[in-house]
Amino acid sequence: GKGLAVFTSGGDSQGMNAAVRSVVRMGIYLGCKVYFIREGYQGMVDGGDNIEEANWSSVSSIIHKGGTIIGSARCMDFVQKEGRLKAACNLVTRGITNLVVIGGDGSLTGANLFRQEWSDLLDELLANNRITKDQREKYKYLHIAGLVGSIDNDFCGTDMTIGTDSALHRIIEAIDAIVSTAYSHQRTFIMEVMGRHCGYLALVAALSSEADQVFIPEDPVPYNWVEKLCKRLQQERKSGQRLNIIIVAEGAIDREGKPITAELVKKVVVDNLQQDTRITVLGHVQRGGSPSAFDRILGCRMGAEAVMALMEATPATEPCVVSLDGNQAVRLPLMECVRRTKAVSQAMTDKNWELAVQLRGRS
Ligand code: ATP
Repeated sequence: GKGLAVFTSGGDSQGMNAAVRSVVRMGIYLGCKVYFIREGYQGMVDGGDNIEEANWSSVSSIIHKGGTIIGSARCMDFVQKEGRLKAACNLVTRGITNLVVIGGDGSLTGANLFRQEWSDLLDELLANNRITKDQREKYKYLHIAGLVGSIDNDFCGTDMTIGTDSALHRIIEAIDAIVSTAYSHQRTFIMEVMGRHCGYLALVAALSSEADQVFIPEDPVPYNWVEKLCKRLQQERKSGQRLNIIIVAEGAIDREGKPITAELVKKVVVDNLQQDTRITVLGHVQRGGSPSAFDRILGCRMGAEAVMALMEATPATEPCVVSLDGNQAVRLPLMECVRRTKAVSQAMTDKNWELAVQLRGRS
């Protein structure tokens, strides 16, 4: 059978285990020899016990677990050529020429580079007698399929990344809990949520929790935001509301690009309205806990599709990323999606928010 390995890289997210499980079982079902690579690219570089053959039962009882059971890491060694040489050697000696990478745009970029260099890496390994001529010939093609695991929903080409829905569940549970105590004491709560340069989590959390105000990076506040915010909060209280909820995305900014932080918003509310105001920073709670049904199914579907893409690949097939498009699993060119995702970050840096939203598309 063909050698296939799965690994998780970059920040973890809920639903990664469902994807790993699906890759392993679909791979075995289709007759592959399937391996786990532990600790992301670090495990690929270090080899040894980090690369372990998986069997049908090694992925039972993991679908409900958050995070990733095979570990994830950021790896400086893989950014260096010597690290990639070691990684290639570890794969070839085990007969692995198919990789499913579950991670963010950085991890996918690394995988693409690895595949571009594959032939050169193998030549160098052969020249240094680290692999045999037979191995050089037998494993000359590397195939890559990527899955996007991230709570931020910040990747272009997919409607939802694996982990976003579970993170939203965590956020909404937290807001609901805060609302009950805020009601008792007539308080204003400012909740900071994750998302880096993407306001998706904050926006959707605000909509589903009846928040009074949301600050997101894609819609920087106008110069008179203080006045507008205070007026709105006052109006809500006058109309009988006993509390206010304000959601601040961690990447929120004003029109000059200056950060709108939870601390800043609190100061505004306290100084202008003298409301009893508290901040809750949700932090890593959002990345933890049990994955939602949506993320479990998403991971399963994407994992199975990734294995099918690899099994159908020809030497000319470019790396793909398996995405969700209108509830369909689709295969898109990996580097085009990565380029678009990076262009969004650039547009945000350039303060061209309309372009950023346009580039990001439906997600
Ligand atoms: P997230 O940002 O959501 O945590 P990510 O996959 O974007 O996920 P990164 O830290 O950017 O996270 O990348 C993860 C790992 O991928 C890096 O530690 C590195 O080993 C590898 N990698 C990233 N970019 C490259 C690159 N240009 N060349 C080689 N390897 C890379």
